Amino acid sequence: MIVFDLKCGSGHVFEAWFGSSADYESQQARGLVACPLCDSAEVTKAAMAPAVPAKSNRGGGAVPMAAGNDDGMARLLAMQREMEANSDYVGRRFAAEARAIHDNGETRAVHGEATLAEARALVEDGVPLLPLPFRPLARSDA
Ligand SMILES: [Zn+2]
Repeated sequence: MIVFDLKCGSGHVFEAWFGSSADYESQQARGLVACPLCDSAEVTKAAMAPAVPAKSNRGGGAVPMAAGNDDGMARLLAMQREMEANSDYVGRRFAAEARAIHDNGETRAVHGEATLAEARALVEDGVPLLPLPFRPLARSDA
């Protein structure tokens, strides 16, 4: 069995199963392959697979993303500016600093860069942290 993404003359994209590629060619040539939505027999193989990848929900190292209009971005930026003004930039020492603050019961705040693995380890150890929407803006002290 082979599955094809097909497209009719009206732009409907649908999936169809055939015994083989030759079966598809033969049925298509005889006008037996029709669009299930509009019954058009003007069917071709769709150039692209459906945009939604089924069953590929495993993340593959992806990180959360935010997107929005300019207002939303401006608010995020303002929030990050305020947060940065009230915390120290520690750059790539972030994981060590965050862990030290947590272990020593300090109340100061820091921001910087961490890998996903470092961030995950911190979270697993109960260190509160938050991903920033943007790369740190102020890096003069690092
Ligand atoms: Zn159609």
